[in-house]
Amino acid sequence: MAKRDYYEVLGVSRRASGDEIKKSFRRLARELHPDVNAHDPEAEEKFKAAAEAYEVLSDSGRRRTYDQLGHDGLRAGGWSSETAGFSSIQDIFQTFFGDAFGGGFSRGPAAGGDVLVGVEVSLRDVLDGTGREVSFEAISVCEHCHGNGAEPGTPIHACERCEGTGQVQEQMRSVFGQVVRAMPCNVCGGDGRLAETPCETCSGAGRVADERTWEIDVPAGIEDGQRIRISGAGHAGDPGARQGDLYVEVSVEADDRFIRQGTEIVTRLDVPVTTAMLGGELTVPTLEGELTVEIPAGSQHGEVLRLPGMGLPPLRGSGRGDQHVVVELLVPRDLGDDEQELARRLDESLGARESATSPRTD
Ligand SMILES: [Zn+2]
Ligand SMILES: [Zn+2]
Repeated sequence: MAKRDYYEVLGVSRRASGDEIKKSFRRLARELHPDVNAHDPEAEEKFKAAAEAYEVLSDSGRRRTYDQLGHDGLRAGGWSSETAGFSSIQDIFQTFFGDAFGGGFSRGPAAGGDVLVGVEVSLRDVLDGTGREVSFEAISVCEHCHGNGAEPGTPIHACERCEGTGQVQEQMRSVFGQVVRAMPCNVCGGDGRLAETPCETCSGAGRVADERTWEIDVPAGIEDGQRIRISGAGHAGDPGARQGDLYVEVSVEADDRFIRQGTEIVTRLDVPVTTAMLGGELTVPTLEGELTVEIPAGSQHGEVLRLPGMGLPPLRGSGRGDQHVVVELLVPRDLGDDEQELARRLDESLGARESATSPRTD
């Protein structure tokens, strides 16, 4: 289907200023908002088209793309009204009108809310990924009445207050003048039906709060603070509406032996000054236990030894980063008499070598 020109949709000229575009959209939104036009299915489509046009023309970058390349240019740039989605249109609306219309779209059954839980994993778990069991309280559909709120086998009537529609109209004054607002019926709670004998388990609410347990896969490579989303595992919504999502926020426990930088691991290693001079072997903590590493003779303070493939994997992808071992020289304190003597002799020997070689190094 050919798309209409965005300027035409908003009824402004191609030279319209940002302010004019804003004003025009405001006017249209007021006329076309679905809550005001509950009886007119076309109004919703028109409102969506206006909001889409506004979303493009109110953004200088998108507007430029549209001016130069039209609808195809926006699509090529990755923008689409589908991905912009109804929720962002709702967002636009809320930025303009706040709660003047009750905060958005009151039609239709409400989706269930999201649930957020936290889990803690170790750095070692990040290497291979791990499983965790999370428990949380969530709203579920009552199993006793299957959500209809009536004791099984008892009749359900249409609500008299809203005549079974679940909605009541309310006139209200706002900064935009008189508006009609559709609200969920307060007698039947928006369901349109009333149980003669409320369900004993849920007292007629159709829903209950219960404890749920869920097995979570924490993928390898996850970063501290990242969230895993399990679609549809959150609170139950109104009958017929989608269930909310479960979000699991992962904290990665700090480990003072390791500093993590994405897929790289940094470790500090105390190296006795004599080992650094002569070379030798030392053990280094790694994610998979202690590892013996070769310290080359003549290692300097701050030098980095690389352990390839001993770091962490990326979140999605294969391979592993490296571990970087930073040499920190350990100078002995409180030398005994013999040791002082040895150190002095070494010092003299090194000093002699220094004065023997220095005059010739120019
Ligand atoms: Zn029930
Ligand atoms: Zn009602």
